[in-house]
Amino acid sequence: MTKALFLVDSYLKESDATVVSVKDEKYVILDQTIFYPKGGGQPYDTGKIIKGNEVYNVVYVGKFSGEISHEVDRAGLQPGDKVRCVLNWERRYKLMRSHTAAHVLASLLNQGTGALITGNQLEEDHVRFDFSLEEFDRSVLEAYLEKANKLFGTDVPVKWYDLPREEAMKIPGVVKMAAAFPPDLPVLRIVEIVGVDKQADGGTHVKNLREVGQVQLLKTENKGKNNRRIYFKLS
Ligand SMILES: [Zn+2]
Repeated sequence: MTKALFLVDSYLKESDATVVSVKDEKYVILDQTIFYPKGGGQPYDTGKIIKGNEVYNVVYVGKFSGEISHEVDRAGLQPGDKVRCVLNWERRYKLMRSHTAAHVLASLLNQGTGALITGNQLEEDHVRFDFSLEEFDRSVLEAYLEKANKLFGTDVPVKWYDLPREEAMKIPGVVKMAAAFPPDLPVLRIVEIVGVDKQADGGTHVKNLREVGQVQLLKTENKGKNNRRIYFKLS
């Protein structure tokens, strides 16, 4: 099983690795990786795998049968190769910031209105949220964003750690994002924004709310009686 280094240290931009296997000349499994595989509403990382002076661009990363598979743009990697992995850090860091922002907004909405986040998709340039709420108007949402932006201007640490499933499921509101509903595992990874939110989650986040910067509302949509959709982005 590939060691998922991003779960422990989301700030690793480079690492060494050994190629474990290669399928169809372009799907590469490593012994350890800094590349996040698409899932839980967070897009995959891109970057490079370097062997000597050969560069293989990582164009997609997914999780298949529990293994993290890196799709590269050309053939040549062999099992046993010692490689250097380099992330497209600019993309990843933006995703870490907007992902952390999404937690804060989900938490404020959930606490303030009881709404559950029914869909949640991060993109490189915006975040989309779906939630169930009957009463809805743009000025109310603007107020939640303003509240979130106040928090992003303060020094609030973000921590992540594992808890036994039974203990984790006792945390009120630990599952607010349907897309991030924890898999059936004995141990869950908790992302805690101190004093603001605790969420079961396998994504990558910044370690202080100050790093988020500010966010702005892009647009709001009604998707049926109780379904609301909003788009926001880092400003
Ligand atoms: Zn998250």
